[in-house]
Amino acid sequence: IAWNQTMLQDSNGNVIGTISIGEDITERQKVEQIKNEFIGVVSHELRTPLSAIQMSLGLLQTGIYANKPEKAQRMIEIALMDTKRLVNLVNDILDLERLESGRAVLDKTVCQAADLMRQAVEGMQAIAAQQSISLVIAPTDVTVWAAADTIVQTLTNLLSNAIKFSPPHSVIHLAAARQTDWVKFQVTDQGRGIPADKLETIFGRFQQVDASDSREKGGTGLGLPICRSIIESHGGKIWAESKLGEGSSFFFTLPFPAEVADDR
Ligand code: ADP
Repeated sequence: IAWNQTMLQDSNGNVIGTISIGEDITERQKVEQIKNEFIGVVSHELRTPLSAIQMSLGLLQTGIYANKPEKAQRMIEIALMDTKRLVNLVNDILDLERLESGRAVLDKTVCQAADLMRQAVEGMQAIAAQQSISLVIAPTDVTVWAAADTIVQTLTNLLSNAIKFSPPHSVIHLAAARQTDWVKFQVTDQGRGIPADKLETIFGRFQQVDASDSREKGGTGLGLPICRSIIESHGGKIWAESKLGEGSSFFFTLPFPAEVADDR
């Protein structure tokens, strides 16, 4: 702890006392360290696709592909893929920053859980269908007190992961059920599963089970941290359970409307 002393003086300039204000510098140092780590990873994550784009464009500019249109086309495709990766990454970084700084405005209302799940499923249906994966919502008429768009974003992130790590022809189940003051949502896949020692770490920024997951599967490594920020800003919790080789379940809780009626 660092102490800052300020002298108290009366109107004639006589010292009549001192005030000491203690500041917990270990906490400040910790925040500083987390920030530095984050900037380090972000600059690496930004530099890789940027360098690839620069190289593709540089090669095209030399004219060596002038007589090889299919090669030129391939170069453009790679540059576009890396551009998309960069756009996703920047959007995710900004989302996370907005949520964690408390600048994100959460416009909470009473929502039908089934509507939120249906919207997320509609958005991901085409991608799931490409792999013949079925998305199934368990019927429910439970309501929650939430900012609808952020919960749809959370469910979409969880569905996107579930699809990425599931085999073709498998089923992903979505459900929501009331548990006294809370509503518990669940997204369950029949995918490769998550090792027990990674169930918590994957909620950290840029954390993957395999180092290759992000590149191969096109993720940013910020999906789950964004989900956690969203759910925690609703006062809820989010966690994962899994059996390796059998599948994973992601759960999160949101307040049941009656419990927050007084805040409205
Ligand atoms: P991203 O998917 O962009 O890499 P996330 O934060 O969404 O980042 O996920 C972090 C990691 O957690 C993934 O890279 C993957 O290793 C693991 N993971 C997430 N969801 C699942 C799932 N449903 N099945 C297996 N592994 C998962």
